[in-house]
Amino acid sequence: MTAVWAVLFFIYGTVFGSFYNVVGLRVPKKESIVSPPSHCTVCDRRLTLPDLVPVLSYVVLRGKCRGCGTKISPIYPFMEFITGGLFALAYVQFGFTVELAVALVFLSMLVIITVSDIAYMLIPDKILLPAAILLALLRIFSPLTPWWDSVLGAAAGFGILLLVAIVSKGGMGGGDIKLFFVIGLVLGVQLTLLTLFLAALIGSIAGIIHLRRTGQGRKTPVPFGPSIAAAAVICYFAGDALVGWYLTLFT
Ligand SMILES: [Zn+2]
Repeated sequence: MTAVWAVLFFIYGTVFGSFYNVVGLRVPKKESIVSPPSHCTVCDRRLTLPDLVPVLSYVVLRGKCRGCGTKISPIYPFMEFITGGLFALAYVQFGFTVELAVALVFLSMLVIITVSDIAYMLIPDKILLPAAILLALLRIFSPLTPWWDSVLGAAAGFGILLLVAIVSKGGMGGGDIKLFFVIGLVLGVQLTLLTLFLAALIGSIAGIIHLRRTGQGRKTPVPFGPSIAAAAVICYFAGDALVGWYLTLFT
């Protein structure tokens, strides 16, 4: 039965992921997330039901619009697939508990801000604020131990990033700072610090790859949100194991 639920959560995840692509692309532009219905931005062709099947439609269409043949960015099916995988993983790890709700809200927020940060270099407040409120409420019913680790984590995440922003004179966006507040709320102090460390590591690697591929200088900013999101996911699911492994290196 668990396996059946895991598969269902994967499928739900891909459907939600498809919606989160739309949310991530439209919210920063202040567009409605329901109308107009999804359409090709080049030829305006409305997507019909078969085009809307997550992941599979991209494979069937070979990554091109059915109307005009414009290439569709592989980021979208990738985000759908990732969301499916993360939803399934959350179910497998937590079962039907309050923590599953925490996981689904947290992961959904991370997917949406990844899409908008890649598209516009922007992490919208309209996503962060509702997520923060919802997660703070859920953390009352599924608290960290001790419960105030959430408060401390949020303060540390926000404070450290603010400090980095001041020292680096704008090298860190306001969205990144607020995002770390929410991450602290969910993960607590220790794993928030680990997230920061891993995000910097992932960000550096992504920066080097970006530099190699485009040949663009260090001046072109690379969005930091996706690296933070990836690090937060790793810490949420495997942070305690990582910390435990790290500590064994000293014993
Ligand atoms: Zn088209």
